[in-house]
Amino acid sequence: MDQANIHRKPFILIVDDIPANLQLMQTYLTSAGYETKSAKNGEEALERVREHTPDLILLDVMMPKLDGFETCRILKRSQETDFVPIIMVTALNELDDKIKGIEAGADDFITKPFNRLELLARVKSLLRVKQLHDQLQEKVKQLEQAKERLRELAVTDGLTGLYNYRYFKEYLDQEMRRAQRHQLFVSLLMLDIDFFKHYNDNHGHVAGDEVLRTIARLIKGNIRSIDVAARYGGEEFAIVLPETNKRSAMIVAEKVRLLVEQHVFAKQERQPDGNLTVSIGLASFPSDAKNSEEMVKCADQRLYRAKAGGRNCVIDE
Ligand code: GH3
Ligand code: MG
Ligand code: MG
Repeated sequence: MDQANIHRKPFILIVDDIPANLQLMQTYLTSAGYETKSAKNGEEALERVREHTPDLILLDVMMPKLDGFETCRILKRSQETDFVPIIMVTALNELDDKIKGIEAGADDFITKPFNRLELLARVKSLLRVKQLHDQLQEKVKQLEQAKERLRELAVTDGLTGLYNYRYFKEYLDQEMRRAQRHQLFVSLLMLDIDFFKHYNDNHGHVAGDEVLRTIARLIKGNIRSIDVAARYGGEEFAIVLPETNKRSAMIVAEKVRLLVEQHVFAKQERQPDGNLTVSIGLASFPSDAKNSEEMVKCADQRLYRAKAGGRNCVIDE
């Protein structure tokens, strides 16, 4: 239910097999400003509820097909309707009916022949409870959304929208352990932008940040959903490729390297090589490392060698 729903006219379902009773209750309730619908028996009541969940149900006890007790039990058993207040309409002084009604989950009773003011008073008081319930539900929903957003923020890098270092570490650890248990491959790419200090010094940090965001987007758009791309540090990225051997990881690495090489970044022509590029170090489990620390170390050393070897390349051994 949304915020708007809380402020609309309350909707009451009246269930009774005697048309005159329905008519009377309907007249009282509509003149008091409520929206109403009616049903002639329990089965029809369940149908109406399925079409549109009411804010309250006035439920006669004695009805053909499905009687009031059974209808009440069904509604109170279902998670979709257990919060809808039910007033059972019983014959005068039928104590047995009241006890059975309480056991079936009824929230209140009104006895026939009923008094208009009593009916309206009971309806009003239960609708207040229902409204509080709805407001509470709405708050719970908002809280859940806020919690979800917080969870997202806690693992996200603010500038690029990629995962942050902390999440990367956890994910790599988890994937390495899973790979050891089930004899799977894992690969890790470490990327670093070439001559990025030069770019920043010449064009400013704002332009530099834009490059970081663009490269993040290029990476994100070209990996699988189980791959995790993270911002490892300032201008360094890490990509975890679960269940990927070195040969397949090399294809991913080359694709990313080429995408960056071919992307036209603003003012890249002033870079030392006339282009903005990245260098990549690649390490794979099980051939290069046995745990996540060794993986990072190995990929990092290869990244360093990619730099020394002329940049804009991938080193995998
Ligand atoms: P190399 O090719 O050897 O990697 O050279 P480099 O200039 O990229 O490497 P270096 O480590 O000397 O410089 C990294 C630079 O990255 C320093 C800083 O200007 C830039 N940098 C780091 N973090 C950020 C950031 O969050 N935003 C921006 N705009 N620049 C950053
Ligand atoms: Mg660096
Ligand atoms: Mg760099």
